Amino acid sequence: MKMRIYADNAATTKLDIDAFNAMQPFMLEEYGNASQPYFFAKSAKTALTSARTIIAECINAQPDEIYFTAGGTESDNWAIKSMALFDDKRRETITSQIEHHAVLHSCRAIERMGCPVVYLPVDTTGTVQEKSLRDAITHRTKMVTIMLANNEIASIEPIEALCEIAHSYGAYFHTDAVQAVGHIKVDVKEMGVDMLSASAHKFNGPKGVGFLYVQKGIPIVSLIDGGAQESGKRAGTENIAGAVGMAVALEKNCRLLDSTVAHLNGLEEALLSRLRTLDVDFVRNGSNKRIPGNISLSFRHGSGENILHRLDLLGICVSTGSACDSQNTQISHVLSAIQLQEDYAKGTIRVSFGRDNTIEDAIAIADAIAKILVR
Ligand code: PLP
Repeated sequence: MKMRIYADNAATTKLDIDAFNAMQPFMLEEYGNASQPYFFAKSAKTALTSARTIIAECINAQPDEIYFTAGGTESDNWAIKSMALFDDKRRETITSQIEHHAVLHSCRAIERMGCPVVYLPVDTTGTVQEKSLRDAITHRTKMVTIMLANNEIASIEPIEALCEIAHSYGAYFHTDAVQAVGHIKVDVKEMGVDMLSASAHKFNGPKGVGFLYVQKGIPIVSLIDGGAQESGKRAGTENIAGAVGMAVALEKNCRLLDSTVAHLNGLEEALLSRLRTLDVDFVRNGSNKRIPGNISLSFRHGSGENILHRLDLLGICVSTGSACDSQNTQISHVLSAIQLQEDYAKGTIRVSFGRDNTIEDAIAIADAIAKILVR
């Protein structure tokens, strides 16, 4: 059988077996609609409550601050568009140039609704500087939305400091934490954020389910109207199995966090030192504060697309950056924003390890890259 090494965990992860086992009964036996009053709906209702409580505990929130959604994209859209719809004299939103398209395109949408958006630059490590926010923010700013960790280069943003600046101007703060939740410690109270987006399939949960944390008292407008689910804020029959799987996966990832991080750091080191030993000319993108296991590499005079396809032929799955950008051969908006030299930028790939990867995988990837580049 052809070798298969999956190293694109920032795009999606394998469903955790405990999450899968916990989900099954809610698809096969306990399939009642949680909104119904009869006995058969009770276990669905209980499971939903329990999933909400577990998720809240994982990020130091209250259960009624967690709203289930269909994933990171919906959570980002909800946070940004809802703030724009909420009637207020303030109209401006501030974001960064390196956000995921779920945020950037939501921002474009609110611009079309007449709400101005400022796109902050980042430094060469992909970090938003406090000074740029200070220079841009005014008392007309309604919300600041900056990602907790970047999906292409893994840089972790100084959210606590940025949040403090936003609050000092009376603005709300949302963070897209899709790449961070389940991968680093995330504490909404410590960071001080008002809203936070997360997605289950990025932390070994099922696809098509996520959540939006909304701090109590923050005015959140419903985007999906219909029934009274999610405290009347997000209508639609709940995805019970999805919420249960997400809670089990997140609890497990948080419990195993230290050992997983140690494992991922070992894989990173194995890959990078092998590349160095093989004399490969590369730079690693991102800041020193990064999501473990997510490695953006740029090879001088290489072609990211070419490397990706040749690795694919060898049974190795990596990415050129954002999963949503695999059809787009242009230099991504993130690499442009960090002003990576063009002769390196075009040769960029993202290797993102997960807990199932091994040292042998890391070495095989490095060997394959070196071979492709020599050709
Ligand atoms: N935000 C970031 C930073 C992401 O990496 C992604 C997915 O790649 C999303 C949002 C969208 O999440 P989902 O796939 O759950 O819609």
